[in-house]
Amino acid sequence: MASRDPDDRPHVLVLGAGYAGAHAASAARATGVRVTVVDPDGLHGFLPRLAAVAAGRLRAADAHAPLDALVDVPVLTGVAAHLDVAGRAVHLEDGTRLRYDAAVVTTGGAPASAPVPGVDVHAWQLHTPAHALALRAELRTSDRLVVVGGGATGVQLAAEAATVRPELAVTLVEARDRLLPTEPRHLGRWVTRLLERAGVEVVRGTAVDAVERDLVRLADGTTRRGTVVWAGGWQAEPGRLLPGAALEGGRVVVDADLTVPGHPRVLAAGDLAAHRDVLGRSLAMSAQTALQAGAHAGRTAAAIATGDRPGPARLFELGRVVDLGANGVARIGPLSIGLGPSARLVPWLHRAIDLRHLVKLGGPVVALRHTPSLWPTSTDEPEYGPLRAIG
Ligand SMILES: Cc1cc2nc3c(=O)[nH]c(=O)nc-3n(C[C@H](O)[C@H](O)[C@H](O)COP(=O)(O)OP(=O)(O)OC[C@H]3O[C@@H](n4cnc5c(N)ncnc54)[C@H](O)[C@@H]3O)c2cc1C
Repeated sequence: MASRDPDDRPHVLVLGAGYAGAHAASAARATGVRVTVVDPDGLHGFLPRLAAVAAGRLRAADAHAPLDALVDVPVLTGVAAHLDVAGRAVHLEDGTRLRYDAAVVTTGGAPASAPVPGVDVHAWQLHTPAHALALRAELRTSDRLVVVGGGATGVQLAAEAATVRPELAVTLVEARDRLLPTEPRHLGRWVTRLLERAGVEVVRGTAVDAVERDLVRLADGTTRRGTVVWAGGWQAEPGRLLPGAALEGGRVVVDADLTVPGHPRVLAAGDLAAHRDVLGRSLAMSAQTALQAGAHAGRTAAAIATGDRPGPARLFELGRVVDLGANGVARIGPLSIGLGPSARLVPWLHRAIDLRHLVKLGGPVVALRHTPSLWPTSTDEPEYGPLRAIG
């Protein structure tokens, strides 16, 4: 029998190399279809490690890896600018046109815009390794840090900074009356205790009214001085790729098989999409949700590309791990961890989950290569190169 030109194989195009994109590419590749990933810099980001990079505990290189070092797929560097559904093609910003038989959009989210004067000008952000490095450099010359937002990102940054730099005065401000507001109350109480034990001043129930240079003004009339980091939430970015798509809480509504309604060859997964678990409950934007949904979307896209009927996604609420570096809190099903000595287990749990994610993508050798060292490593990396510009 004559061998087929591999380029004749049905083509799955994955847009984005984050948690959802990496698992979509890996799952589609396993079915034998041709897979191409498009990402602005071809890097897979380990976003939960960014707080440790900003504090100086991990290297920037620990917070990302080239996707093609994790999954054996071609990765094109470029920004997807337009989806031509009728022509089954994606146009990149540089003018390249890529045809697909099925496309998986996993372009993630961005910090939620905050209607607070001064945030855009005076506050730092934390969502790329470049942000983390710039913030680390700033903190070396600062003696105070004010983190706004008591969700996982804010809590992680405040704890890592206070632990790695005990001489830094750290304040965490949360408008609601508790930290980790999307989690059960007891996790918020436990994490508050861990932060206060690390020396963090925790201010709850008071919104930030304005941000000025190295200063926040709180609704209770008080101010806090220091380098200001805004960690006030995250939102999906359906943007120009899926204009007109129905949204739920800013995230793209998807059918049970993760296709975008009205577009049977286009799927959305990860932070971008409004995912539900098997019981129909809304799933949070998280790495766990993104990697489950990405894997399903990859398999489904391969089925669509080869003319098979896709099945519904079966996604699960697996819990939440908030790793503070030296300790942390976690929820796995009905089990909560983080009270007393159990808090010290959480960084190990995070490490095990990270390892599992990497083993699934590239096997044990890849997993060990991209897991941060257990021993202290120098984080002096002023010449560190392959990072996109801050923005
Ligand atoms: C600081 C921080 C800490 C976090 N901590 C935790 C935690 O402890 N636990 C947890 O579960 N979750 C955590 N999260 C959330 C978690 O990282 C996200 O839910 C997860 O990354 C979502 O995966 P994703 O693949 O949907 O998107 P992302 O991981 O954001 O990946 C999207 C990818 O798409 C690319 N892209 C964007 N636009 C385009 C385009 N036009 N064309 C091509 N590519 C594009 C981006 O460059 C990126 O590589 C944290 C997030 C942050 C920022």
